Amino acid sequence: MDLELTPRERELAAKARDFCDQVLLPREIETDEHGELPMESRAAIVQAVRDWGLAGVNHSKEDGGCGFTMMEQTVIEEQLGRATNGLWTCVWRPPVSLKFGTADQKRDYLLPSNRGDRRGCFAITESGAGSDPRQVRTSAEFRNNQWYLSGEKWFVTSWNAADYMIVHAHVDGDPDKPTLFLVDKPAPGLEHLRSPRFMHNYAFDHAEIRLDNLPVPPEKMLGEIGQGFELTKDWFVETRIQIASHTLGAAIRAAEIANAYATEREQFGKPIRDFQAVEFMLADMAVEIFAGKSMLYRVAAEIDRGLDRKLVHARASALKLYCSEMAGRVIDKAVQILGGRGYMRENPVERLYRDIRVDRIWEGTSEIQRTVIGGQIRKRGLEVYSGWS
Ligand SMILES: Cc1cc2nc3c(=O)[nH]c(=O)nc-3n(C[C@H](O)[C@H](O)[C@H](O)COP(=O)(O)OP(=O)(O)OC[C@H]3O[C@@H](n4cnc5c(N)ncnc54)[C@H](O)[C@@H]3O)c2cc1C
Repeated sequence: MDLELTPRERELAAKARDFCDQVLLPREIETDEHGELPMESRAAIVQAVRDWGLAGVNHSKEDGGCGFTMMEQTVIEEQLGRATNGLWTCVWRPPVSLKFGTADQKRDYLLPSNRGDRRGCFAITESGAGSDPRQVRTSAEFRNNQWYLSGEKWFVTSWNAADYMIVHAHVDGDPDKPTLFLVDKPAPGLEHLRSPRFMHNYAFDHAEIRLDNLPVPPEKMLGEIGQGFELTKDWFVETRIQIASHTLGAAIRAAEIANAYATEREQFGKPIRDFQAVEFMLADMAVEIFAGKSMLYRVAAEIDRGLDRKLVHARASALKLYCSEMAGRVIDKAVQILGGRGYMRENPVERLYRDIRVDRIWEGTSEIQRTVIGGQIRKRGLEVYSGWS
């Protein structure tokens, strides 16, 4: 068993850490105070992503991406996850479902998205459809050689940075025909309703939008009728691993800050780390990070060795569940160790504390991940998680 990172993986991790320190961290406070990344910083970050060779980290070279392995993506994402306010999202990851597009769709959406010339957003969720996407009410009807989409979507992340959307709709309102459509912005019948404020101040917004008889030409359907879930499944797997990676990076940053503070901060005539209550918190944080990182790197290496797709799906849920909850516990302890300073917005641990909460909700809540894991145990046995092959 080879547990060492390759020189290239170490080099990419160091590069991503430098990128995070030099490009993302200087923009944290402005993003937090402004509520999102100010417009004037956006073009500079896009150019920096290209200059640093991080354009299209999750796609193959043939599709205009970097051609990174899963392990390489993981070590990069872990470092980007140190940034607060969701600034890691500035290193774009175009939707995996675009890989399955036609040659024209790849030319018009995937390639320019990998270059950073276009950006997409993804709309599945609705007011009545969250964990259960069969409740989606957005419908697609074919009339006069065009599709017409009607419905309302919630929580559309990066709407204000995107120039196209992938919309999940039910053909003829039939939940057995979930289908994806590419929609360019702006479009007649596409209306932005509002962008509410959330617990975190994230680089971009999370919008509510209305589609009212929005015309879509037939060549903008992504995949086949009824393939909506199938095409999104691979993307969910990837984003779950991505969430595990960046929550791990967030936990490590918080632990580093708390560890340094525990040495320098003195109360009752000695460093607070000399109080066992504080040292035990640091010990628990370190062990949790150790466990999360070991799981994550193991699964990333397994994927690169060709792990069966069903097992990837099973393990991605465990990674997302464990790392997002682990980061919540670690960052909570970091806030505690920093005392009042940990509660100040200018302190990264306070921002990490707010940021990390959503990772237990989006891309499948913790409860949905447990449901997936429970189902996998029933279907394939406990060895999916307890075994080692
Ligand atoms: C900041 C943010 C950004 C987002 N970005 C996007 C985006 O870009 N595109 C998009 O389409 N969506 C997006 N979402 C939506 C997100 O994916 C959903 O919020 C999430 O899937 C949960 O759906 P819900 O909020 O409707 O909660 P619900 O599904 O209503 O769940 C409410 C509670 O019930 C629990 N629950 C539900 N079903 C079960 C079950 N079967 N077993 C056990 N417990 C259950 C849940 O775990 C949760 O605790 C975003 C959400 C947020 C907060």
